Amino acid sequence: MGTHVYVLRLGHRPERDKRITTHVALVARAFGASGFLLSGICDPNVIQTLTRTLKQWGGSMEIACVEKPKEYVRTWKRLGGEVIHLTMYGLPVDEIISKIQVSSKDKLVIVGSEKVDPFYYEEADYNIAIGNQPHSEVAALAVFLDRLYKGRQLYTYFSDAKLNIIPHPRGKHVEHR
Ligand code: SAM
Repeated sequence: MGTHVYVLRLGHRPERDKRITTHVALVARAFGASGFLLSGICDPNVIQTLTRTLKQWGGSMEIACVEKPKEYVRTWKRLGGEVIHLTMYGLPVDEIISKIQVSSKDKLVIVGSEKVDPFYYEEADYNIAIGNQPHSEVAALAVFLDRLYKGRQLYTYFSDAKLNIIPHPRGKHVEHR
């Protein structure tokens, strides 16, 4: 899968976003990202759920709360990475994705919550729309990562997993290791 992809979730508020931010984190892991960064309120519930999932289902990720997300974005770019902001106001994903696929730069994928500060639109190397209709950060991230990896991420095998699903047409078959 080549370059590192980190996901930055902006503006988390536990009372409003607990489940959806957890889903952003789980999609990041399952769909091939190697880092999850939480800005807004540093919510231990989100971090714990992701950590527990990694322990049971495998894989490793850098997980952190980011107090100053603007500074983080600037530093990411200064260190040679590129910044991809997912927004319904951006350019269609299909127009840009091949350029991003061939780039060897590490990628910071940003998803918002309520209102995203104009700073991110300006600093992003790419403002990308997953369709120009409002929907969800979870859906936007999943579709973006799926396009980036051309579906390969669905077949990731986590060799350190304690639990492994054996696909079955009916019922739950789980290997405990
Ligand atoms: N009106 C808001 C905005 O400024 O884009 C929508 C907020 S939406 C509930 C939360 C996040 O979901 C957005 O910040 C964006 O990252 C993502 N999102 C929603 N619809 C999207 C779309 N069509 N394309 C890309 N990202 C989208």
